[in-house]
Amino acid sequence: MKIEKHCSLKPYNTFCIDVEATELVTLQSQEDYAQLVGSQYLKGKNYFVLGGGSNVVFTRDFDGVVVRSEGGSVRLLEHRDGHYFVEADAGVLWDDFVRHCVANEWFGVENMVSIPGTVGASPVQNVGAYGVEAKDVIESVHLFDIETGEKRTMRNADCGFGYRWSVFKGALKGRCLVDRVVFRLDEHYTPKLNYQALRNVLNERGMDNPTAQQVCDVVAEVRASKLPDPKVIGSAGSFFKNPVVPAAEAERLKAEYPELVSFPVDQQHTKLSAGWMIEKAGWKGRDRGQVGVYEKQALVLVNRGGCTGDEVRQMADAIIADIMARFGVRLELEAIML
Ligand SMILES: Cc1cc2nc3c(=O)[nH]c(=O)nc-3n(C[C@H](O)[C@H](O)[C@H](O)COP(=O)(O)OP(=O)(O)OC[C@H]3O[C@@H](n4cnc5c(N)ncnc54)[C@H](O)[C@@H]3O)c2cc1C
Repeated sequence: MKIEKHCSLKPYNTFCIDVEATELVTLQSQEDYAQLVGSQYLKGKNYFVLGGGSNVVFTRDFDGVVVRSEGGSVRLLEHRDGHYFVEADAGVLWDDFVRHCVANEWFGVENMVSIPGTVGASPVQNVGAYGVEAKDVIESVHLFDIETGEKRTMRNADCGFGYRWSVFKGALKGRCLVDRVVFRLDEHYTPKLNYQALRNVLNERGMDNPTAQQVCDVVAEVRASKLPDPKVIGSAGSFFKNPVVPAAEAERLKAEYPELVSFPVDQQHTKLSAGWMIEKAGWKGRDRGQVGVYEKQALVLVNRGGCTGDEVRQMADAIIADIMARFGVRLELEAIML
């Protein structure tokens, strides 16, 4: 494993915030994980496990050890009962993983193409897009418990998956180092088209029965037209979660704002579009210092050039307060502020 002292984290977070970690440990092989945990290098130290830094905003220098994984491979473990069981190392880029699966006709992840970040973060975040979430395809998660040194395998049902949520953000927060994830993918392709916006684009293009490659290409194209490319504009993707409110509360808001975008969750709950509310409140395209609300998608905060994490926090706080005042709805951060 590689250990660097007083290292800039700017290349390792997609918001491009220039802060420093006291130590940066880079893991490049399975042996590195075992060595780091076995040696108790982190014992008694403040540490943070970083993936691709695409959902993290650093508001100050990190006084401690940042651990990140880099590289790795994707392997077919087994083909049985109509499924491919595919293992990927934590440091593999999620988008590379998705494209590798599509190219090999291992189906199930194609709607989640172009999500930045790593395979290791996918169970932590339960990443998702266009109607599919990581929980739909994860078979098991292999990890080290940093506190006990124990190696564990968590089955899908043990992971406590929810909307951008898992046990790794809850009861096991901050103590897990995911080293591999096993996915259960399908041999036969069934397009997952329950997401209306995706259906619309496919219909417009006359793709009534699209292939996985076509869905992957269309999703990548639509995303590129709406979301900032992290290589060009710093951001952390959707900055706020879509709030889930009691159905009666959603009805009250809909009476006042009939055009409010919402999605039923179950009979008692409705998910509201945070992006719609932020846009309605007039934030889309607005800047404060070096932070802006992306002009093509109000849910995304962007770095206009050299912004600090504090500026991002202030902008987020101002938006949260305004949405509460206007709609009586509390927005929660999807991005992790450190
Ligand atoms: C332009 C843009 C678009 C985005 N679009 C989407 C989208 O459509 N859907 C979506 O769900 N997300 C989206 N995101 C958010 C982000 O891509 C995901 O949350 C992604 O999973 C984060 O991966 P990461 O490797 O960068 O993790 P990081 O941001 O580095 O970390 C995220 C969390 O995972 C933990 N973690 C990371 N690696 C490990 C590991 N190996 N072991 C244990 N814990 C770990 C970290 O401690 C942290 O808690 C987007 C982000 C951007 C910038």
